[in-house]
Amino acid sequence: MSRILLDRRPVELKLRHPWTIARNSSRVKRNVLTRLEHGGVEGYGEAAPNPRYREDAASVLRALDIMEPLLGDDPARRDEILDRVEAALPGDPAARASIDIALHDWAGRQAGVPLYRLLGADPGKTPLTSMSIGIDDVAVMQQKVREAGDAPILKIKVGLKNDREIIEGIRRVTDRPLYVDVNEGWKDEAQAVETIGWMAGMGVVLVEQPLPAADLEGARRVRERVDLPIFADEAVLGPHDIPRLAGAFDGINVKLQKAGGLRAARRLIEAARGAGLKVMLGCMIETSIGITAAAHLSPVADLADLDGNLLVADDPFQGARVCEGRLILPDRPGIGILGEWPS
Ligand code: MG
Repeated sequence: MSRILLDRRPVELKLRHPWTIARNSSRVKRNVLTRLEHGGVEGYGEAAPNPRYREDAASVLRALDIMEPLLGDDPARRDEILDRVEAALPGDPAARASIDIALHDWAGRQAGVPLYRLLGADPGKTPLTSMSIGIDDVAVMQQKVREAGDAPILKIKVGLKNDREIIEGIRRVTDRPLYVDVNEGWKDEAQAVETIGWMAGMGVVLVEQPLPAADLEGARRVRERVDLPIFADEAVLGPHDIPRLAGAFDGINVKLQKAGGLRAARRLIEAARGAGLKVMLGCMIETSIGITAAAHLSPVADLADLDGNLLVADDPFQGARVCEGRLILPDRPGIGILGEWPS
C-alpha cells in the first residue's frame, strides 16, 4: 500500500472583535490546517494551538514533521496510528488533534457516512450551544450580546478588574441565562465565594475555572461554599487529571484541542462520567473544521460551547450550523465541511 500523504497549511484567522480573556488579548488566531490523502480519499483536520498549553503554530508544524513518518500506509488502522503519535508527542495535544480529526474525516468519507455515525452519536440529540462574549468595554460587550442574536445561553468572560460592572451591564441588555468563565483570573478564595454568590442572584447558572488550575484545594473549598455548579477547564487535559478533580468540581470542559482529538476526548468523557462529573464540550478559536468535528461528538455531552468559528471573521469553511442555539450537524460524509483548501 502507498503511504498516507500529509499536507499542512498555517492560517491566520481574523477575529470579528479583539478577543480578550483574563490571561491575554488577541486580534488574530494562528492555526494549522491538515489534509491527509490516501487511496483517492481526503481527510481534513485542524490544530488550534493555545499558548496556555505550551503550543503555537510553529510547535504544531514541528510536531507534524515528526508525526508524518509515523502515519504509515493505512488510515483505516486509526487506533494504531494514534497510539504511535501519542507515544511520540504526548505534549502536543493540538497537533495530535489535527491528525485525529483528519483520520476520522477520512474514515467517514471513505465509508460514505457522516462522522456522527462513526461515533455512534444521535444527530437529533445535540445540546444547545452557548455564545462566548470576550472581555471589552461594557458597551462593546453589550453590542456583542446583540450580535449573538438568538443564542439562548451566553458565556461571559471575566476575571480582570470590573467583573460586577460587566455582569450588571450584560443584564441591562438581556435576561438570558449566563455562564461565566473566569479563566483562572481570581486569586482569592473568599472573594471568589462572595462574587459567585452575588452572580447566582444575577442569573448566572454556571462558573468555569474561577481559580488557577493548580489550586485544587482552593477549588474544593470554594465549591463547598457556593450553590452554582463549578466547571474545570484549564485544570483538565486528560483522563489522568480526573481522579484529582472529583470533589473539587461539578463538571469539566472537554476540548478536542486540549485532549488531543476525538478519540482522546471520548476517553476523557468516559473518565469524567465514571467520576460523576458533568461534561461540557468546548473549543478554541477554530474554523468550521475543528468546530464541526466537535459538534459531531456533542450529542454525548451535557452542554456545548462550540462557537469558536463564529468568532472568526473569515472562516474558509462551512459545517455545523446553529439554529435557535441548537447545533445542526451536516449529513455529508465525514465531518461534512464545505470550502476550498486555502491556496
Ligand atoms: Mg474556559
